[in-house]
Amino acid sequence: MPKREVMDRTAGFLKKNLETMPYKKRLEYLNRKLRGIVQYAYNHSIAIKNKFDSVGLKPKDVQTIKDLEKIPVTKKTELMELQKKNPPFGGFEGVPITEMRRIYISPGPIYEPGETEFDELGWAQGMYAGGFRPGDMAINTFSYHMVPFALQMVDNSLHMIGCLSIPTGIGNTEQQVNILKNLRANAYCGTPSFLLNIAEKAEEMGLDLKKDLDLQVGFVAAEMLPESLRSKLEEKFRMIIRQTYGTADVRCLGYECMMKNGMHIPDDKIVEIVDPETGKQLGPGKTGEIVATTFNRVYPLIRFGTGDLSMLTDTPCPCGRTSPRLVKILGRVDQATKVRGLFVHPGQVNEVALKHAQIGNYQVVITRKEHKDEMTFWIELKGEVPEPEKLRGEIERSIRDIIKVRGEVQFVPTGTILEESRKIEDQRTWE
Ligand SMILES: [Zn+2]
Repeated sequence: MPKREVMDRTAGFLKKNLETMPYKKRLEYLNRKLRGIVQYAYNHSIAIKNKFDSVGLKPKDVQTIKDLEKIPVTKKTELMELQKKNPPFGGFEGVPITEMRRIYISPGPIYEPGETEFDELGWAQGMYAGGFRPGDMAINTFSYHMVPFALQMVDNSLHMIGCLSIPTGIGNTEQQVNILKNLRANAYCGTPSFLLNIAEKAEEMGLDLKKDLDLQVGFVAAEMLPESLRSKLEEKFRMIIRQTYGTADVRCLGYECMMKNGMHIPDDKIVEIVDPETGKQLGPGKTGEIVATTFNRVYPLIRFGTGDLSMLTDTPCPCGRTSPRLVKILGRVDQATKVRGLFVHPGQVNEVALKHAQIGNYQVVITRKEHKDEMTFWIELKGEVPEPEKLRGEIERSIRDIIKVRGEVQFVPTGTILEESRKIEDQRTWE
C-alpha cells in the first residue's frame, strides 16, 4: 500500500453554507424546515396526525421552534406501545412500507425503517468535523446485524464523504488488527472500548501501534468516552478521536469538532432541552431531557424524547460552526433527581469527585428545610488534608460549575459512607 501524504484534518467543513449560517439565518432555516416536516408528517403519518388531534393542534399552529412546546413529547415507551398495536412502526412512518429498503430491529424490540436513498447529514458532518477526509479507508466495527447504525448510517455516511468502508463488524479482534496492518486502513468507526481492545491485542501480537499500523482518525459512538480513555488512545495510536451522539430512531443529534467543547447539533435536526415533567424548553446551561425533531420524511419523528439528559450551549465555537452544542450526555432522565428545579444526575456528582484527588467515599444528600431544597455533599477524605477549609471552598466551586446548583460540603470520618449507599440520597418528605 502506498504511503499517504500528510493532510490537514483539522480545518474545513462538509457543508460550509449550512454549518456556518449566522444565528438569525439558522433560525429562519430551521423554522422553515420545521413547518415543512410538520405539514408533511401530519399528512403522511397516522401516528403524528393522531398526536396533533389529541391536543387539538393543526400544522399551521407550529410555525417556530418555540411552538414545538404545544406538541406532547413522544417517549420511547409510547413508541413501543404504538408499534405493538400497529406494527411495524406504529404509524410513525411517513412513506408506505413498500417504498422502504430495510426494516431494522433495536432492543425493545423497536423497529426502524431504512430508506432507499439515505441522505441524512449528521453522521457525515460529524465524521468530517472529526478529521475524516475523502480517500480514507475505515474499518466499521459497529454491529451490522439487526440494528441500523453500522449498515445504514455509518456505511452510507462514509460513502457520502468519499471514504472507503471495510465492513468488519464487532469482534474478531486479531483479524481486525491484521486488516488494519495489511490494508494500512487509517480510520476507525466503533466504540471506544473496542478500540482499546484492538490496541491491547496489537501490542500482545508484538506490533508497534504507530509504525506497524496507520490509524489516523476515529469516529466513536454508543458509549461514554471518558477524557482519560480518549487521550490514552490518541497517544497510543497518534490519532484523532472524536465522538458523536444519537439514537437509532432520530439518528445523529450531536458531533464533536476539533475543539472538543461539546457536540454540534447537525443541520437536519432540531434538538430541544426540556423539562421531562412539563415538556417546556429550557435555556442554555440548564439540564434537561434531549428531545429531537428530524426532517426525515421516511420516519418523521417530531418531539421524540430520548430519555437522555444534557444541556445546551450557544457560546460561539472557534471552529466556525454556528450550531448550538450539547455540552455532554449526563445520563438517563430516570436516574436524575430534581433539586431547586434543576436536574442533578449521579454522573455529575462523580465528575465533581473526580476533580479532587483528596475525595474518598462520597454521597449527596438532598433534604428540605423551610420549603427549600438543600444539597449536601458528605465526603470522606483520603488521609490528612493540610487546609480543609480551602479544599471545601474548591469543592463547592466545582459543584456550582458542574451541577449548576449550590451545594454544601461536609467532611465526615472514614467509614461513615457505606460502599453500597446510593450516590444521591433523596431524604425529602412532602407533607
Ligand atoms: Zn466547533
